[in-house]
Amino acid sequence: MFPGLKPSTLSGSYRKDFRNRDKIDRIKEEAVTNGEDEEDEFIGFASLPEQVHRKAVRRGFDFSLMVLGDSGLGKSTLINSLFLTDLYKDREIPDTADLVERTLTTVKKQIEIEEKGVKVRLTIVDTPGYNDAVNAEDSWKRVVSYVDQQFQLYYQAESGLNRKNINDTRIHCCLYFISPYGHGLKPLDILVMKKLHHKVNIVPLIAKSDVLTPKEVKRLKTKVLEDIKENDINIYTFPECDSDEDEEFKEQDKALKEAVPFAVIGSNTVVEAGGKKIRGRMYPWGIVEVDNPKHCDFIKLRQMLISTHMQDLKDITSEIHYENYRAESLLSSEVSKSNRERTKLKRDSIANLDKALETEQLLQEKEAEIQRMQEMLAKMQAQLQNNPNSQNGRLGNVR
Ligand code: GDP
Repeated sequence: MFPGLKPSTLSGSYRKDFRNRDKIDRIKEEAVTNGEDEEDEFIGFASLPEQVHRKAVRRGFDFSLMVLGDSGLGKSTLINSLFLTDLYKDREIPDTADLVERTLTTVKKQIEIEEKGVKVRLTIVDTPGYNDAVNAEDSWKRVVSYVDQQFQLYYQAESGLNRKNINDTRIHCCLYFISPYGHGLKPLDILVMKKLHHKVNIVPLIAKSDVLTPKEVKRLKTKVLEDIKENDINIYTFPECDSDEDEEFKEQDKALKEAVPFAVIGSNTVVEAGGKKIRGRMYPWGIVEVDNPKHCDFIKLRQMLISTHMQDLKDITSEIHYENYRAESLLSSEVSKSNRERTKLKRDSIANLDKALETEQLLQEKEAEIQRMQEMLAKMQAQLQNNPNSQNGRLGNVR
């Protein structure tokens, strides 16, 4: 079953829809108890949110998640833990020689999950080989180009005939795995985040946080946030919650914001503790529970990703990141159009040059003719002066 999609934990707007529905029902009930005719009092548009809701549920939701970070940081384990699936069962582990040769590939895995009649088509984009090869410089370029390609596909589909049924493969969220063994962001992390932050919603995670003590986790989180700030990296910012939200929801929202970068633990094994079956990692000194908020931020991440902020991540992708891409595309097509115009102008100017040369030649010929006539006139005048008697007679040959 798909975890966590409960009306009580839905995102702000959904919570409001539910509340509005409650309110409408209550008003309707009051009207009936007061003896008022329900149909007379309501025109009917109060059911619009319900209609929108039903339509959206019927259509289902697309959500694409990219996981990024060095191999072995627990990306596939976390994804399996998040969606309670085994998306990586066919995975081959590369040997050392393979790692040296390796170039980045992007692997797309799709699953359709349904919970209480709500369908989510989930696409996970993994990047095995990221930072694996000896020459890993180019791996981030492929990631960026993959993100751009998805925008381009959407852009083309939007300008095509079948605009209503676009398969949205744009990346709505990028879970960026930060190594727990380092002291903050690595130069490559900074570079990649800076290349991506205007294109996707980056959610930073401290991977395998069970290898650190709570104090170390806190220190690393502070250092990562400092690095993010110092390098002007824009990670996904949680929207402010409405002032009319209830206190419990506000508290939940505050805790979520404070937990960034989420310290996560992944595990695909179910262990027994105190007679209860839990997902966790067993150590000689005890069990680390994935779902225990005291042990890590896994629950917060899952809640944010699936229950409360999925729609906001999609909205930001569509309204900010994709619009940026669209504006850039339009601008670059305008620039190339004007460049084409300039080339055309050059061609025109060559044609104009031919014409100008022709006109120049004509002008020169005319000038020569005028010159000849002036000379002829001058000779005639000279003849007239020399022979005034011939005024009424023939002028003679002046040539
Ligand atoms: P990926 O290459 O990033 O997809 O990493 P994997 O998910 O394949 O994990 C690599 C290894 O790390 C496996 O042996 C996992 O069992 C282990 N692992 C995954 N998540 C965690 C975690 O949260 N803590 C610890 N200690 N080990 C983990």
